[in-house]
Amino acid sequence: MYRTVAQIDQLGGLLAQFFPQHCQRFQLPELSVLGRPVFALRVRAGAGDNRRGVLLVGGVHARELMNPDALVEFAVALVVSYRNGTDIVLGGRVWPANDVKVLMDTLDIYLVPCTNPDGRHHVMTVDDLWRKNRRDNPNTTCDGVDLNRNCDLLWGVAQGQTSCSPCSDVFAGSAAFSEPETRNVKFLLDTRRIDCFVDVHSYSELVLYPWGHVPTQTTDPAKRFTTLPAGTCKPITDPAYQEYMTPRDQQRFQTVAQRIVTAIADVRGRAYTPQTGFGLYGTTGTHSDYAYARHIADPALRKTYGYTFETGPWVGNARDSFHPADPEPIKLDVKSGLLALMQQCICAIELIGMAFLGGEGEVDALRRIRDDVLATTPAGRDWILLFEDLQARVLPVVLGDDALAERAASVISRAGRTAADETAPIEPELVADTVAILSAVARRTDDPQVTTGVAATNEALEAAAGRPMAALLEQLVAAGPRR
Ligand SMILES: [Zn+2]
Repeated sequence: MYRTVAQIDQLGGLLAQFFPQHCQRFQLPELSVLGRPVFALRVRAGAGDNRRGVLLVGGVHARELMNPDALVEFAVALVVSYRNGTDIVLGGRVWPANDVKVLMDTLDIYLVPCTNPDGRHHVMTVDDLWRKNRRDNPNTTCDGVDLNRNCDLLWGVAQGQTSCSPCSDVFAGSAAFSEPETRNVKFLLDTRRIDCFVDVHSYSELVLYPWGHVPTQTTDPAKRFTTLPAGTCKPITDPAYQEYMTPRDQQRFQTVAQRIVTAIADVRGRAYTPQTGFGLYGTTGTHSDYAYARHIADPALRKTYGYTFETGPWVGNARDSFHPADPEPIKLDVKSGLLALMQQCICAIELIGMAFLGGEGEVDALRRIRDDVLATTPAGRDWILLFEDLQARVLPVVLGDDALAERAASVISRAGRTAADETAPIEPELVADTVAILSAVARRTDDPQVTTGVAATNEALEAAAGRPMAALLEQLVAAGPRR
């Protein structure tokens, strides 16, 4: 019912062997503590470097048996859908083949289904409630490190469910990234372009996002984890400390988590809760917070939006909650949530801009408007959310029609040049072309959200024709989209 480590590796290996054009398998640089190889899969279609990347890891906690199976099966489902042009049907939620094709054509999808193979083997042979890896901790009879406390983000700060005691189930290890299993995850974040990250755990039916160590606040940028000492083995000294996050990132985390939760509920009605990690309990050194924190600790690094799923419900006892007799329905939930996350990880403007213009200049100008202008007010952020939701829905239509895609690229290019000079008037012709493309897309979908979003966008654009870009931006940051 649950695959052994060897069976998970074998299924990934077969996928790579039979469909090398869509799945590469590679061994990560570090063997596990007990010397087992750890494998990653890269799933995608077509060529091209510098794509956006998604990293999905599972099995970090050994006893959470469902998720490695779900991840390796998810890789198979993506490849099969792409090869055969078939929809991915997950209970009541159907993911059209065309939507999967866009994900495969545009993203690099990395999966590490079984991050902690020693732990999984131990669970399946010796102790079915084992959580940690199989580190032999020196000078103690207690084995194992909690890999999801071992990353370099306030490592060893004993907030809530985090401990410096080797006998604890939440032992953080002897140093940040002391464990080869966590260094493998770090390796992928270091060497691949990863924009979105999910660490899939069980149980509780949650979609978690940062922060995990304390409550999040959006008002005091001076309050950063980078100013706090690590490795103290004590809680954060100031009990009132709250961690900063930009309003834009908080809104993005909340919105994407909500879309993931909706996609999960569509499968069979399970109501997952989106919340911060701290809302569950205090943690430091987790994978998903680390993935997001990297760009704050080192601004030269890419920003990665990191999530943790907690799959499946509590059913009254740990054994049946960690490994339910029938995990199949829960795995469907997980896959739908992952598809929603991946869909939200695509940036349509960047994608169309890069594919057809071959340069970053115009896309950069538009990106600056998004981050430096729109993101600064609640109304502007509402516009960003509208565009992000719209792009996920319209991209399959645009990419499925070469003529439309080229017209879209031309509009992005001209809009980018206009955006570079805020005093220049917006050409009525550019507005007319943009409105025409959006209207054409809206006509081809039967999605009421697209119709509403396109109507709101077109209304704002038409009001801006002939006026300077600055006037349009002023209007957008003052008043959100009409709903
Ligand atoms: Zn877990």
